Amino acid sequence: MERILVSACLLGSRVRFDGGAKTSGDELLAAWRAEGRLVPFCPEVEGGLPVPRPPAEIEGGAGGAAVLSGEARVLTPDGSDVTWAFLSGARQALAAATSSGARLAILKEGSPSCGSLRVHDGTFSGRAVPGRGVTAALLELNGVRVFGEDRIAEAAAHLDALVRERAGRRSR
Ligand code: SF4
Repeated sequence: MERILVSACLLGSRVRFDGGAKTSGDELLAAWRAEGRLVPFCPEVEGGLPVPRPPAEIEGGAGGAAVLSGEARVLTPDGSDVTWAFLSGARQALAAATSSGARLAILKEGSPSCGSLRVHDGTFSGRAVPGRGVTAALLELNGVRVFGEDRIAEAAAHLDALVRERAGRRSR
């Protein structure tokens, strides 16, 4: 079965920085969950950060690739450097995708870990800029396609393509 890595907060886990969840009411996600297709994962908690925790943003709104290459840090509002946890969480998310065979992920949009199209600009003012979070960037670099929770129809189309590809390989 094609598995899907999913931000744990979208599935109701209270793992966000503020101690809450961002539970998705999407019917497809619920159906995939009932099939046992989903692999829930929270990179920030697995990376070693507590719940609750201070918010964090990538400095300069630089995006996850810059954090992976050491060109940008992830900071809290008081300037604490939490880059280590974001890198550890990203590596563990990739390991979870690899070990479960997931080639697709549905992650919370806008997060400095999970964002796939946008992240905050590093000023803690609520402004978003185009870019990926640290985990989303590492997954994409390693061939795992990432979609935000507002792009589940696109994720479903990609899942169908992966399922057809796998079936084609089996019949060869
Ligand atoms: Fe949700 Fe990802 Fe933030 Fe964890 S790191 S709370 S999974 S958005």
